[in-house]
Amino acid sequence: MLKKTFKILKWLLIIIISLIVAALFIRIILFKGPILPPSELPSTPIIDMHVHTAGIGYGDSGSFISDTLKKGYKFDYYLRAFGVTRKELEDKGDQVVIKKLAELVKQSKHVSAVVILAMDGVIDKKGNLDNEKTQVYIPNDFIAQETAKYPELFYGASINPYRDDAIDRLIEAKQQGAKLIKWIPNIQHIDPSDLTLTPFYNMMKKLDLPLLSHTGQERSFGSAIDKYGDPKRLKLPLAMGVTVIAGHIATTGENEQESNFQRALPMLSGYPNFYSDISSLTQINKLGYLDKALKETQIVDKLIYGSDYPLTNMILVSPYYFPLNLTIKQMYDISNIKNPFDRDIALKQALGVPMEIFARSGYLLQMY
Ligand SMILES: [Zn+2]
Repeated sequence: MLKKTFKILKWLLIIIISLIVAALFIRIILFKGPILPPSELPSTPIIDMHVHTAGIGYGDSGSFISDTLKKGYKFDYYLRAFGVTRKELEDKGDQVVIKKLAELVKQSKHVSAVVILAMDGVIDKKGNLDNEKTQVYIPNDFIAQETAKYPELFYGASINPYRDDAIDRLIEAKQQGAKLIKWIPNIQHIDPSDLTLTPFYNMMKKLDLPLLSHTGQERSFGSAIDKYGDPKRLKLPLAMGVTVIAGHIATTGENEQESNFQRALPMLSGYPNFYSDISSLTQINKLGYLDKALKETQIVDKLIYGSDYPLTNMILVSPYYFPLNLTIKQMYDISNIKNPFDRDIALKQALGVPMEIFARSGYLLQMY
């Protein structure tokens, strides 16, 4: 019996070693190197304009998440990526997540500042927050207040335009120093092409507040209306002159039998006020998109740097997912960078993200 087990184990070992040797061999043959020749980082400050925080409502933050999310496995997983536990939030308040973020940015060698995003909810027919349908809520006041405590953190407001006081909230956000307005239309149930939003867009333009709107599918939450992530729905604010930043170049999903990414490309080259961030493009479910985006020469000057932290701190993102672009030493060295912000920069720099894209976020958001 023992002899037989050894024999099986021996064969298993031989098969595993042969597979590894074959994979290494294939890798050597197919190795392409970086997407573009890597460039230096800019001498101007690098701003990460797409950073999330978490909250359950401790420390009177006013934040909440739906019961479904609270009970699901994903939430603890997210908290781990933020470097906190539920117990820590309970003891120190939701403020602790932001404090930890500030420390990470301060320690970062490459990232000078980040924009932390609030998250508005679903709005009911009367213009008020719909507590039932809202999956995640992180109020503007909380983010405005907490980011003001740290010089390396900036405020990204989130206002559902269907609120009855949406315009007043825009004015207030601007006064409180908001750098942009963030939407995830898919989960906030916002149709960006809705003509009733015209006054809201007019005020955004008047206040010179850019719109960062998630485009593509949304899979980080329980349920989503993915048609609202169609980049073509952003034509209304674009035509009105609002600066619009499409989150993630509409990677993932399709509308009218066309991929959202393909739908975004002609718009990026067509509208001078349309930009896209490159956040989340190194995720394992989006392999190949960064490659495509950087090679589309007509859109490269419309791309801006962002990370989508904490997703960059999860198993979703790793230099080991790029064995055909990076050397083994590069993959090893990058994965060993402790600071998640520096690790994201190093990975994107090694893959060939040009200096101008790293520099453009701060410039576009008028942060220096
Ligand atoms: Zn995001």
